[in-house]
Amino acid sequence: RVLVGTKVDENHANWVTAYNMLTGIRVSVSRTNAKLDRPLTDADFQAKQKSTFDIAGNELVPSAKYDFKFKDYAPWVFRHLRALFRLDPADYLMSLTGKYILSELGSPGKSGSFFYFSRDYKYIIKTIHHSEHKFLRKILRDYYDHVTENPNTLLSQFYGLHRVKMPYGKKIHFVVMNNLFPPHRDIHETFDLKGSTIGRDYKEDNLGKNPRATLKDLNWLRRHRHLELGIQKKRLFLDQLHKDVRLLQRLQIMDYSLLVGIHDRQRGNEENLRDQTLKVFSPGGDAPHDDSEPAHSVLMRTPSKLESQRKARELRQMIKNEKPAPMGQTGSRLPNELEEGLHRPGFVFNQDDGGFAATHEDNTPGEEIYYLGVIDCLTHYGIVKKMEHFWKGLSNDRTQISPIPPHEYGERFMNFISAVTMSAEEAQRAAQERDAA
Ligand code: ATP
Ligand code: CA
Ligand code: CA
Repeated sequence: RVLVGTKVDENHANWVTAYNMLTGIRVSVSRTNAKLDRPLTDADFQAKQKSTFDIAGNELVPSAKYDFKFKDYAPWVFRHLRALFRLDPADYLMSLTGKYILSELGSPGKSGSFFYFSRDYKYIIKTIHHSEHKFLRKILRDYYDHVTENPNTLLSQFYGLHRVKMPYGKKIHFVVMNNLFPPHRDIHETFDLKGSTIGRDYKEDNLGKNPRATLKDLNWLRRHRHLELGIQKKRLFLDQLHKDVRLLQRLQIMDYSLLVGIHDRQRGNEENLRDQTLKVFSPGGDAPHDDSEPAHSVLMRTPSKLESQRKARELRQMIKNEKPAPMGQTGSRLPNELEEGLHRPGFVFNQDDGGFAATHEDNTPGEEIYYLGVIDCLTHYGIVKKMEHFWKGLSNDRTQISPIPPHEYGERFMNFISAVTMSAEEAQRAAQERDAA
């Protein structure tokens, strides 16, 4: 988030990598977008396009600050995916074309992946392991078909798959995906839920140091939390999740989690994130740097004054409209919105301020907005198995890392999340029934 991420500027260790990633995306995405749209072919799913960037440039590739090679995978498939996810092509490029992007403390996960936010916090670039990259290419057709049939899928939305290679450097694979959390809202609590209890505990002692840490299953249980969605929304959510999990099971994927961000409307935006965000956008905010921007960095050009003004206007608009929907509407509004289907700019699970508002069992609106999605869904069972052997070679403890097969993983995951979506009342009734039995 704005306050947590480290700004990636010229002095940042990963500046050149980040710069090259953005330059590559910009050039390759504009190249594909410039063409007339057409239906996808089988070949599109295997396609890759290589570009070589250098200071001189040529008729196909504009000159760049640094030497590097860039590969764009399945550009047409991702163009269509971005359209399915209703991204505005110009907006997408704008967001990924800052003179800096932000990185969140390098690697939040154990996997060694790096996460970068676009300057407007809408998109996340995640570096992925070569095996995840190969796997995404392999399942791309299934993923594409699933998204086509399930526009409201809760799975990570992939917008691009690329590779960058610097002279003498390693090949770096990365995806561009949606940031589940909105730029204009404080997330007061974050949970990463897998439905397992082994090692799924964030040491609450550390919360003082890091109040925005991502909590896990055991923290959730300890706090007796519930996703309060009311009957209708709960059904929508669990139905979609079930479809998504079935796909993950079929593709032998595991280790994914449900990421839950909770915004408490009562607490509001105490950290004044909005002002921070405005600073990122507003023409005045980064003006001193804009002026010193070297003239030749056309690729990474800062938004023109007009564009910046438009962004700032949009943001102000967003803030003006931010008041929660009039009470009592949240629950009843849903079926109507659903009927509108594709005409709606948002998606079912993003209908309330970019998220899904809590609703009590009696259909009265709750104070919280949930931001929900299934993340980290590129781990194939085979890879986990291999890791397991690796670990077993290092220690004799066979019980510690014992991956359960994808089908069981999915069942356990679904069971946990279904239990999690019980309202407090339901949970109490269930407990009473258990005690009575
Ligand atoms: P590991 O394999 O060890 O779980 P990883 O490097 O694969 O780690 P992820 O599980 O994908 O990382 O994500 C780690 C954390 O980053 C998540 O718990 C979440 O806090 C944040 N995060 C990941 N993806 C998103 C997203 N799309 N939107 C918002 N936050 C995200
Ligand atoms: Ca994970
Ligand atoms: Ca992972």
